[in-house]
Amino acid sequence: MRLYINDVAVRDGFQVEKAFVPTATKVALIDQLSRTGLHKIEVTSFVSPKAVPALADAGEVLAGIGRVPGVVYVALVPNVRGVQNAAATAARPDEVNGVMSASETHNRANINRTHEQSLGELPTMVRVAHEAGMKITMSLSTTFGCPFEGRVKEDEVLRFVEAFLAAGVDGISLADTTGMANPRQVEELTARVLDRFPAKDDAFYTLHFHNTRGMGLANVLAGIEAGVRSFDGSIAGLGGCPFAPGATGNICTEDMVNMLQDMGYDTGVDLGALIAAARRVPAIVGHDTPGQVAKAGPSLELHPIPESLKE
Ligand code: ZN
Repeated sequence: MRLYINDVAVRDGFQVEKAFVPTATKVALIDQLSRTGLHKIEVTSFVSPKAVPALADAGEVLAGIGRVPGVVYVALVPNVRGVQNAAATAARPDEVNGVMSASETHNRANINRTHEQSLGELPTMVRVAHEAGMKITMSLSTTFGCPFEGRVKEDEVLRFVEAFLAAGVDGISLADTTGMANPRQVEELTARVLDRFPAKDDAFYTLHFHNTRGMGLANVLAGIEAGVRSFDGSIAGLGGCPFAPGATGNICTEDMVNMLQDMGYDTGVDLGALIAAARRVPAIVGHDTPGQVAKAGPSLELHPIPESLKE
């Protein structure tokens, strides 16, 4: 079974790092990731540089990277202004990823808008993106739980998915922003979404998990059971949300790929090349990172037999 793996470390990961990662370092890391077989790379966001200073160099990053055919280069956009700024930049992203939260409180904390304001802007976001030749996907944050409100009503999630589809988006991501999802919930809710609004193509729906409570990879498997084929991760397990208390890293991309390949899934990813990129991350951010396979090596990387066992 073919799965689609996307990496968001440069956006979701670097946005919460205290030290600014130099543009040239971001570009070099993205260029390395471009040659690993990933489906999409989320390379930056067009948000207020005051709110997220770590990603103030969006235009320079997009202009600096080498584009590998077949890889989709994505920028996050929180609103119409973000789409307009992405459209106005010289080196446009292939795709913009709009974001709203299933919970009203997180929506206001994250993008300073009520639900109705966000939904009101959506048609314009889609129009501006498409007029500029960019695809647009929508991410629904806090789909599986909100750090302020708790569980989100499933009907509310369905209402947003329906609104995204009505607006003509090119893909939908269901995001577990602060790692509150559990596998049973993921399987039930995503199956309900796919049943009611069937996927337009294999990679139309993406699941975006954070590993805050250690359930990230289990949630990926639950998503596959429910019929989802596209998953976000972050190399080295970087990540977080600046506007959600207690948020920690995304699921680690190379840990996910190692598991899926061991299970016989075709991810299209060169695990060795991905690990090589992930192993550069601790030096870039200046601290240890949560990913495990980059430390342990792939499951079938064997070690020499101990001398004492040799004749
Ligand atoms: Zn995230």
